[in-house]
Amino acid sequence: MKNRFAGGCTRCSVLVFPNGGFLRKGDEGWEVWCATCQSLDELAESKDFDPENLELPTVPPSGCATTVDLRVLGMTRACWKCRKDTLCLIGLYPDRPSHGYVGLHTTDNEKTMALCQLLVQHMGRTDLAAGVKSRYSRTMRERQLANGCWHCDALQGNFPVHEEALGRVASGGVSGLDTLLVAICPVLEWQTVVYDFGGGVIAI
Ligand SMILES: [Zn+2]
Ligand SMILES: [Zn+2]
Repeated sequence: MKNRFAGGCTRCSVLVFPNGGFLRKGDEGWEVWCATCQSLDELAESKDFDPENLELPTVPPSGCATTVDLRVLGMTRACWKCRKDTLCLIGLYPDRPSHGYVGLHTTDNEKTMALCQLLVQHMGRTDLAAGVKSRYSRTMRERQLANGCWHCDALQGNFPVHEEALGRVASGGVSGLDTLLVAICPVLEWQTVVYDFGGGVIAI
C-alpha cells in the first residue's frame, strides 16, 4: 500500500514523501518504508538472500529525500596507554530517527568509520577526523581504520571503544554519547552503512 503522508522510513529513517514509499502494518502500528528498504526486505524473504553480497541500488530510492541528517557521535575516554582523556569517533545515528527505527552504527565497522571520517571532514571539522588513521592492530592482526589517542597516538581499538559505548548507551541512551555535529549525508552512503552486516551495531 502506498503511503499517503510523508514519514521516516522505519528501517533507515530517510524521509519518504507522500506516495513515495510503502505503508505496512508493523508490530507497533503503521510503518512507512522507502522503496529500497521495501525491496531489500522482500529479497530477505527469498532463499537467494545473501547478506554478504548484497547489491544495493545505485540510485537513491525514488520518492524520498536525497540526504539524511545524521548525528556524528563521539566519546571521551581514558587512553589505555597514557591515561589522558581522548576523544574517539564512535558512530552515527539519525538526527530524527523514525518511529520504530533501531540501530546505532558504531565505528567497530570499517564502513561506518570511513563515513564518520568523511562527514566530519565535509563539515570542516578536520580536527575531529585527525586521530582516525589506518592503524595496525596487534589484536586483530590487520590494518584497520581506527581512532588514535590525541596525546600519544596509541591505537584505541575499535572493539573496546564499541564495548564502552555499549555500556554508556545501555544506561543513558544515545545521549550517553556526545553529538559532535549533525551532518547532511547522501542517502546512498547511509544505506550502505545500514545494510552492512559486518557488525558494529547497537540496538537502541
Ligand atoms: Zn529505508
Ligand atoms: Zn594516549
